[in-house]
Amino acid sequence: MTITVIRRAEWVIRWEGGRHVYGRDMDIVFDESGILHIGPGWTGTADTEVSGRGRLIMPGLVNIHCHSGDEPLAKGLFDDTGTPQLWGNALYEFSTLIDSDDDAKSACQTLMLSELLASGVTSCLDIAGDHPSWQPLAAESGMRVWLAPGFRQARWRLTEAKALEYDWDEAAGNDARAAAFQTLDRVAEDGTGRLTGVVAPSQIDTCKPDFLAAALDEARRRGLRLTVHAAQTMAEVTELMRRHGKGPIPLLDEIGVLGPDVILGHGICLDHHPLTRDRTANDLTVLAESRTNIAHCPATFARSGQGMESLGRYLRAGVNLGIGTDTIPFNMLEEMREAIIQSRCRSGDFADVTTADVFTVATTGGATALGREDLGRLYPGAAADIVSVDLGAPSMRPVHDPLRSLVFAAAERAVRDVWVAGRQVLVDGRATGLDTQGALAEIDAAQSRAKRIAENQRGHSFDSIAPRSLETLA
Ligand SMILES: [Zn+2]
Repeated sequence: MTITVIRRAEWVIRWEGGRHVYGRDMDIVFDESGILHIGPGWTGTADTEVSGRGRLIMPGLVNIHCHSGDEPLAKGLFDDTGTPQLWGNALYEFSTLIDSDDDAKSACQTLMLSELLASGVTSCLDIAGDHPSWQPLAAESGMRVWLAPGFRQARWRLTEAKALEYDWDEAAGNDARAAAFQTLDRVAEDGTGRLTGVVAPSQIDTCKPDFLAAALDEARRRGLRLTVHAAQTMAEVTELMRRHGKGPIPLLDEIGVLGPDVILGHGICLDHHPLTRDRTANDLTVLAESRTNIAHCPATFARSGQGMESLGRYLRAGVNLGIGTDTIPFNMLEEMREAIIQSRCRSGDFADVTTADVFTVATTGGATALGREDLGRLYPGAAADIVSVDLGAPSMRPVHDPLRSLVFAAAERAVRDVWVAGRQVLVDGRATGLDTQGALAEIDAAQSRAKRIAENQRGHSFDSIAPRSLETLA
């Protein structure tokens, strides 16, 4: 074991009395087994000494919802595009157009993991399709990664009138589920101690109720979490109402797919949301009482003008939430800023959530969702997942409150060094276990290939599918 000491850190966010608190001028001592000491004047031995002057030392962030598969390829394509008939969402008509081929998947995953590490993420839950480099790259990144191979029984299809239809293929669903469980068998053999499987039926509307319930049974048999997209759009809620006469949360409650081991992706369109037709407000109580977790991903939905009504209302109801970046940008600190600002704007209440609330959601909230009380907080005995922030970065200064400087102004520009399980995996902003430059060399050509496939599918040019933000003149 290699003992590292961060000596005399100017500011530390440590865990005491069940909450994050600031400390000043402290030594943080850790090895691969975890944090050994936080406090002034460590006099024990150390293999590596790092100066903490001019640094904020904080726990690694926990991202409980992201997709490495093809989301990086969608950068710049659909930010101004949506389907008016489907509440303006781009998900069903446009996002599904872009698929990565096998060559692109590794580049997409490398870029996602690099960006996450650079924004202080030490744990992430990646919902994607398996490919040969998926597990190896996750291991080599040095992060803690929850690998969630998605599977489903139906695909979305839009009619000419832009109605959302479902092409069901239960045999294909069974095959996809069997392949996902094979992947999970392989993840269970991981020797790094940093990879964990998650059972991931993709969406509540693309899986039948008995299929979802069976997936949770299997997750529990394996001792794994289950994650599923639910209450993410009004198109989904409308479809569930048509099929079952009830919205996503009452449906999941009825079939027993709620609980502390369940993470619902997004959980936006609950019965209290102004867009839903319901005139009730029971869903938050059901989620809180069942201790079901919500992965809150504000940025991607805000781009299509939608979002959770009030993050503060969920917290006050006692619902456990974590933050997810979902799509691009994979910037956890920007996502936290969005979470605060979106919630204040949408609720119309500046006091709806505080910086401390959102920091707690992005750290211990996510850790609770993953069932890991040793993550997202710094105390002797916790995992050594640590982020060092440069207080001297121009975007951080002046530093009255380092967390506010980081979240509201600097974001990843001030993140310098990251350790996961006591090993340094980000050095001066660069991910040491990932070939980020190599992935960047691949990604432009990969996006061009994906656009060409979309053009062939639609039979017209990409510029007419989703025009650029500005007209291009010769
Ligand atoms: Zn998602």
